[in-house]
Amino acid sequence: MAERSRETLKEDICEVGRRLYSNGFIAAGEGNVSIRLSDNELMGTPAGTCKGYLTPDMISTCDMEGRTLSGPKISTEIQMHISVYRARPDVNAVVHAHPPKCTGFAVAGVALNRAVLAEVVVTLGCIPLAEYGTPSTSELAESVDRLIRTSDGVLLSNHGALTVGKEVYDAYFKMEVIEHFAEISLISRQLGGERLLPKKEVARLLDLRQKVYNLDGPPGGDACPLPAEAVAAGGDDEMVHLTRGELVQLISDAIREVGGR
Ligand SMILES: [Zn+2]
Repeated sequence: MAERSRETLKEDICEVGRRLYSNGFIAAGEGNVSIRLSDNELMGTPAGTCKGYLTPDMISTCDMEGRTLSGPKISTEIQMHISVYRARPDVNAVVHAHPPKCTGFAVAGVALNRAVLAEVVVTLGCIPLAEYGTPSTSELAESVDRLIRTSDGVLLSNHGALTVGKEVYDAYFKMEVIEHFAEISLISRQLGGERLLPKKEVARLLDLRQKVYNLDGPPGGDACPLPAEAVAAGGDDEMVHLTRGELVQLISDAIREVGGR
């Protein structure tokens, strides 16, 4: 693939691991990073090691079945990476982490699929939410498989996030963008809710994506990101959570209103 030597690619993975850890995107031994080397060889982070303190000798290689070829035992999540590489020939690097804010959205069952920030619409389109799958099993790989075909970033229910790129920094920076997007979304929701971009503006941004930024990867599928009109028409499947007390209060108020007539 690229002109970068294997040794340099190993150093790139170590640097991405340090950034994931120092930014609080992973804790302890969490997260994993991989690079595609050829049709049948990947390079990736080892299982059960803190990715904030990696050195090049700790980076393993494996085949497309996940069998370790060199170095320590490769990440137990490598199957998820392999299924992404199979689905996306244009992708050469995968980053998986648990950044707290976007993982909070994934735990709450809320996708980052609204047209909120112009630059995110241009770069990522939107970030859909994959169904829950047990970590380190084919179940998780399957839940990611469909969505990653049309998005460069996916939230994993009750788990974390996954991003892909042409090279490892490209995939890492998408993780940064998703976490930043989640933080802005969270703040705007606390301030009363996001004001979404209209359909016309979303179309203009997606056009810019191809013509000006020359981004040819998947923009996020047909229904993504949701413009203002779609959400106003109820096209958003966001869940509303109420405590038992709030629910009782709502029902009591409604009964009182009906009774008062
Ligand atoms: Zn994970």
